[in-house]
Amino acid sequence: MRRTKIVATLGPSSLKLISQLSKFVDVFRVNFAHGDENSRREYVRLIREEAPESSILIDLPGPKLRVGDIGRMELKRGQEVLFSPKGGITVEDPVFYSSVKEGSVILISDGLIRIKVTNVSEDEVRGVVLDEGVLTSRKGINIPDLNLRSGLTQRDLELLEEAISLKADYVGLSFVLSAEDVRKAKERIKGRAWVVSKIEKRQAVENLKQIILESDAVMVARGDLGVEIGLENLPYVQRKIISTSKTLGRPVILATQVLESMVLNPMPWRAEVIDVANSVYQGVDAIMLSDETASGSYPLEAVRYLHRIITSSEDKVRSTRPTPSGPDDAVASASLALAETSKSKLIVVHTRSGLTALRVSRLRPRSPILCLTPDPELARRLRLCWGITTVVVKGPSSLDEMVSLAVEHCRRLGVKGSVVIVAGDPSTEPGRTDFIKLHNLDEEKGLKSTKEI
Ligand code: PGA
Ligand code: MN
Repeated sequence: MRRTKIVATLGPSSLKLISQLSKFVDVFRVNFAHGDENSRREYVRLIREEAPESSILIDLPGPKLRVGDIGRMELKRGQEVLFSPKGGITVEDPVFYSSVKEGSVILISDGLIRIKVTNVSEDEVRGVVLDEGVLTSRKGINIPDLNLRSGLTQRDLELLEEAISLKADYVGLSFVLSAEDVRKAKERIKGRAWVVSKIEKRQAVENLKQIILESDAVMVARGDLGVEIGLENLPYVQRKIISTSKTLGRPVILATQVLESMVLNPMPWRAEVIDVANSVYQGVDAIMLSDETASGSYPLEAVRYLHRIITSSEDKVRSTRPTPSGPDDAVASASLALAETSKSKLIVVHTRSGLTALRVSRLRPRSPILCLTPDPELARRLRLCWGITTVVVKGPSSLDEMVSLAVEHCRRLGVKGSVVIVAGDPSTEPGRTDFIKLHNLDEEKGLKSTKEI
């Protein structure tokens, strides 16, 4: 069984393959930076119809600047260029003209083309090409030395409402700058979805810990992050985001150019395979495919390869376990020790807030985690988290009922031998992890069965 989860971006290449992809995909991503309201709704409808078990990440565009519909332009080194809302390289967003400074370096098309700004006026920017290349419509613009004030635009807030009305399980916030951006989004979401903060600005790296603490999950958004901080800084920053997320107990997704060569080829590059394995060793919760599944020629092959690389890597190197930081984590940690010394096949978690499940998952136990929860929305959200399989149950109201329920589910799955049960006492407020039991299924006889679920 694979523990590291797979997120796949839906796009023209995968629309007809959702059902086949869902054999390997835990979470589908719909990128709200593209399409109109109808196509966005249609994407979500198709996922629900074709892959009812998968959960859905709706990704908001954030303050990403893009060039307009310019067709195709060949830019040569030393060439003088003009940016304006109507002519030359068209850029509509007024933020561009108010924030670019003389001397700034503008990066276009994932950093491929670099332009140095020589002159700025109210609605015109002039510059000279440093690194040449072919520019096409709608390509992204990055200005690394630009300190934006907010990572959440008016457009994001509108799309956020749309995402919530479409019942997204997670909302991705692009170009988050500070914990304040996350708080603002959460105020509107009101617990109806998890917030995934995409780390893709230098400012976000500087505010990393505060952002992660405020978020439900984190994404290492290597595409824009690489352009913003310089590719050579990416390996270390990736490690830092992953380890900080794990320490703080938030699930973390690795994204972008994971198997990029498979956009064109049915087989990945060695370097990509090794990158995936290394991120599994570092202990990411999930790995995301973007163009590979959205617009590539081999979406199914890409997902299958990712599955194979992950499964082959998972049991070979153990990622380091964060040390317990309080009594709840200590109980979660003890459940692992108990499972390992008793050679238990399964850790059964009963969770209402999701916290016990996250506390166990972040320690990366050897045995699979079966998570029982009365909350169907939480059950869907936990699909993103390492090692967790969820079942929705009728909420037990006492520890005895909870243990009976856990045992019943183990029996149904045909589990033999001992299992470890870990939970918060259902008769108290949710959020704690204060119960642990080693239970031998073989010795159990005449146990009262709870009602059918
Ligand atoms: P994007 O985010 O694909 O929405 O740009 C991921 C990234 O930048 O890596
Ligand atoms: Mn991005």
